Amino acid sequence: MPELNPADPSPEAPIAHLETTAIHAGRAIDPATGAIAPPLYLTSTFERAADGSYPQGYVYGRLDHPNRRSLETCLAALEGGAGAAVFTSGAAAMMAALQAIGPGRIVAPLDLYRGTAQLMEQVLQPWGLEIAWVDATDLAQVAAALTPGTKAIWVETPSNPLLKLSDIRAIAHLAHEAGSLCICDNTWATPVLQRPLALGADWVVHSTTKYLGGHSDVTGGAVITRQVDRAFEQVQQVQRLGGSGLSPFDCWLTLRSVATLPVRMAAHCANGRRVAAWLRSHPAIEAVHYPGLPDHPQAALARSQMTDFGGMVSVQVRGDRAEALAVVAALQLFTRGTSLGGVESLIEHRASIEGPGTTTPENLLRLSIGLEHADDLLCDLAQALAQVYGIDPELAP
Ligand code: PLP
Repeated sequence: MPELNPADPSPEAPIAHLETTAIHAGRAIDPATGAIAPPLYLTSTFERAADGSYPQGYVYGRLDHPNRRSLETCLAALEGGAGAAVFTSGAAAMMAALQAIGPGRIVAPLDLYRGTAQLMEQVLQPWGLEIAWVDATDLAQVAAALTPGTKAIWVETPSNPLLKLSDIRAIAHLAHEAGSLCICDNTWATPVLQRPLALGADWVVHSTTKYLGGHSDVTGGAVITRQVDRAFEQVQQVQRLGGSGLSPFDCWLTLRSVATLPVRMAAHCANGRRVAAWLRSHPAIEAVHYPGLPDHPQAALARSQMTDFGGMVSVQVRGDRAEALAVVAALQLFTRGTSLGGVESLIEHRASIEGPGTTTPENLLRLSIGLEHADDLLCDLAQALAQVYGIDPELAP
């Protein structure tokens, strides 16, 4: 097995198996007590030595603290990056990345988490961000949108909510030829299923609220970089001077959860695959969006840049908004709620949460497949579809 060296989590360093990295990177036995679980450092400031120095390397909680440093080391190692900065939410991480690159033009995908699009348009556009929206599944459109001086291409793959894929290798190549950064939101895949930095991306962003946190009990976000250069140092400046770094307890909770990320992802993938395949052959379902299905239009790309396909499944039911909402209302085990990546299965009518101007189809439901037994999830879906469409659950596949 390659040797793990959490102190040198650069892409060139030998990468231990992710299961091992997830448990050991950023952690050490506490020298003061021998505690195996990392202590929680609830302090807002640190003692200064008589000569005015800070011998432990920590000054003030907003700037840095031990729990944040542990989580950043672990996330950098998992993504094969050279550094990471963690934030109070995925949105704060994305905000820091965009503020760090400064006003100017970016190329961004049309199918994108609605909150990211709103952040770009409503907060950063007035400040000088110029956004060229493209269908990022079409490389010709991405290439045509690049102009001299374009700051970055933003990639979200698989995308929210349609699970469209962007070709990270090809887009990173286009970005670099144009002197731009390639920034990839890896929230839905996680480093267990896809490692954008190894495919050429410069920065990975995450909502750690989702699979990394994994238990629907903590919000957070991260920017992880291939190299610690001036651009990434500016991300760190936004974190420290803007005061958007993640708190000690939230870092502690997230690090605790990341230890089980690889095993949780394997179970999410197994359940996601079963639910997607079952829904694919159900007569009440018009379309299933899941990159692991052999007839997904980008199945070959999925296999070339992902090792498995996750627990997010979007479906379009027969009918329209009324039928979609009726299915949601009839479910008993799936919880109605936004967000994703937790142990419990959630379902959401995406168009209604996205609000006016959404292009998400009204008959689309987004499922975050949790870690319950897949048979129980299928039973619940079967009874709900039977109620709405009058299909005998025994006849359902
Ligand atoms: N990126 C993606 C792909 C998301 O799905 C989300 C939230 O759903 C975010 C970013 C934003 O993360 P947060 O809610 O932690 O701010």
